[in-house]
Amino acid sequence: MTRKVTVLGSLNSDTILHIDHLPVQGETMAMSDASTAPGGKGANQAVAAQRLGTQVHFIGAVGQDQNGELLLNALKEDGVDTTHVAQLANVGTGAAYILLESDSHNTILILGGANQCISETNVDEAKETIQSSDVLVAQFETPVVATLQAFKLAKSAGVMTILNPAPGRKTIPKELMELTDLITPNETEAEIITGIPVNDDLSMINASNKMQEMGAKNVIITLGERGAYYQLANGQRDFEPALKVKAVDTTAAGDTFIGALATKLTPDMKNIVESVRFASAASALTVQGAGAQPSIPTLEKMKEVRH
Ligand code: ADP
Repeated sequence: MTRKVTVLGSLNSDTILHIDHLPVQGETMAMSDASTAPGGKGANQAVAAQRLGTQVHFIGAVGQDQNGELLLNALKEDGVDTTHVAQLANVGTGAAYILLESDSHNTILILGGANQCISETNVDEAKETIQSSDVLVAQFETPVVATLQAFKLAKSAGVMTILNPAPGRKTIPKELMELTDLITPNETEAEIITGIPVNDDLSMINASNKMQEMGAKNVIITLGERGAYYQLANGQRDFEPALKVKAVDTTAAGDTFIGALATKLTPDMKNIVESVRFASAASALTVQGAGAQPSIPTLEKMKEVRH
C-alpha cells in the first residue's frame, strides 16, 4: 500500500535574484537574472515526498490571490492532496526572496503572510487525515501552536512525527519536543536550538545529546555539502557523507532530504542507514538544478543515479 505522509507547513512564492555576491549596505548592484518558482519549506518537503513515491496530504494556507492559485496548482500537478489548504481572505500568500550568489550560496528573506494564519482549528479539521497517516512532517514557517496540536493528534494515534526546526528557534515548547520522534535541524538550526556551535564530531554529538535531553527521540543534523549525522534513541550513531556533485543552487536541499526520509524511514528506525543514503542521493540531485521545486527529483530520476 502507498505510504501516506501528511505535511503541515508553508507555501511560498519564491523570487530568485541571481547575483554575483551579496551587496553591502547602501550599494546598488545589477542582477544577472531574476526568476520565480513555487517554494516554501512545507510545500518543498511535500513535493519531494510525493515525487519520491508516497501520497502526500498538505495542511496549509494561501491568500486569495494569483500566487496562491499558482502554488495550489503546483501542488495539485504533483498529485499532492490539497483538501486541507485554506484560501484565506485579507492576507497575502507567503513569499520568499532568495539572493542566489554565483558560488551557489543563498540568503533568504521571508514574508510569512497566510502561512502565519494557520490555526489549531485548521489542524483539527484535518484530524482524520493526520491520524490515518504513516508520518506527519512539520517545520517552523507556520505557527508553533498549530504544529503542537498536529503532533498531539498524530501521537495519540501512533503516527510517526518528524520536526524540521527551520527556521531555527531558540525556544521550542518541551511538549512539542517530547512529541517528536525525529528532529532534523541543519547545523545552524542545531546551534540556535542548543547553543552549541556545530563544527566537529564532538559538537555534533553534544548538540544531539542536548536535543535528546530536551525530549526529541532521534536526531539527524544535516551539514550541507559535508553530509548528515544521525543519532538514535538506541544509541546508534553515524555520519553519512554527502555525494560529491557540482552544486548550482542549494535551495531545497534540506527539504528534499526530509521529504525523502519521510518516504522511507520506519518508526523503529531500523532502516536508518538506507533512508539517510536515499535522502542524501535525492538532495544531491536537487542541488544540481536551479529553483526549489523545479529541481526536486522524481523516483525515476533517482533510478538513474546510484545510491
Ligand atoms: P538545508 O538546506 O536545510 O540547509 P543542508 O544544506 O544541510 O540543508 O543539506 C541537506 C542535505 O543535502 C545534506 O545533508 C546533503 O546530504 C545534501 N547536500 C546539501 N548540499 C550539498 C552539496 N553541495 N552537494 C551534495 N549534497 C548536498
